[in-house]
Amino acid sequence: MATQHDGLLFFEPCFVPKIWGGRKLDREFGYSIPDGPVGECWAISAHPNGDCKVARGDFAGRTLSELWSDEPQLFGGTAGEAPAQDRFPLLIKILDVADYLSVQVHPDDDYAAAHENGSLGKSECWYIAEAEPDARVMIGQHAHNRDEFAQMVADKRWGELLHEIPIKKGDFFAIEPGTVHAVKGALILETQQSSDVTYRVYDFDRPQADGTLRELHMEQCLDVIDYDAPLKNSGEVTAPEVDGITKLMTCKYFEVARVRVRPDAPVTLAQDHPFMCASVIEGEGGTVTSAGSDACRAEKSELSRGSHFLALTGSGDLTLEGDMELIVSWVPES
Ligand code: ZN
Repeated sequence: MATQHDGLLFFEPCFVPKIWGGRKLDREFGYSIPDGPVGECWAISAHPNGDCKVARGDFAGRTLSELWSDEPQLFGGTAGEAPAQDRFPLLIKILDVADYLSVQVHPDDDYAAAHENGSLGKSECWYIAEAEPDARVMIGQHAHNRDEFAQMVADKRWGELLHEIPIKKGDFFAIEPGTVHAVKGALILETQQSSDVTYRVYDFDRPQADGTLRELHMEQCLDVIDYDAPLKNSGEVTAPEVDGITKLMTCKYFEVARVRVRPDAPVTLAQDHPFMCASVIEGEGGTVTSAGSDACRAEKSELSRGSHFLALTGSGDLTLEGDMELIVSWVPES
């Protein structure tokens, strides 16, 4: 059976052109991306709409979805047995949102399973890696019920309907299913369920390159919006940083943390989960796992802005050195 001696898998991202995207994924992350505005980098994904390939090592060229079903022991499962979850559950993206993202909402698991061919719902969260001076997020809305929402949309009272706040670098937002949201002027590290179901409320009447408008999904939006969700007025992270690590959120689908590594303060990151996703959003450095050290082949994996990797079962703790910032995530024990 093939193994990965240090327990780390690096991926080749997939890129998605979007009318609201920009060129920062090329300019600032050095990725080779398609021409035109590119909005999304799918960095760690086994979703059929963007199934990432392993970039190097023993599993080079194989997709994450193949490894999930064929090599379950890498992710805490038993070799030869089907994984308990039928698909890799998380999706990690970088969003380059130059112009407004469509005002959108996502369904929960029950609604998606019933209406979207057995898809997962979409809980997501945003870490603001960079923000323009006028960057803003729309998160939540002011209608009290379905009828009021529909009426305000019909009257185009967008300013009254949508709850909008300024954002800055380092802010963090959990976005539950049923929360209306959009953003503009930011580079975002997104951690989400492995789902691609988005219902558009409003797209600013923007034409696409061919002159047509993107489809809206008002009935589905009205079905899934949570009209009672409390409004958020800030994305400020208030959790304490302990030994370089700040817990950003926990929900039933994922836990997310920020890791800050400084030249005089390397970080040891415990990896006792079936797997852990990691993305370098700033700076550079390197990492060695305890599995790699035990195998006496402790080559350091070089990391730079835009490196994404999975630490697999048995990778052991990660020693991170350099001057960089990462976002890491894993699935909580059920
Ligand atoms: Zn979204």
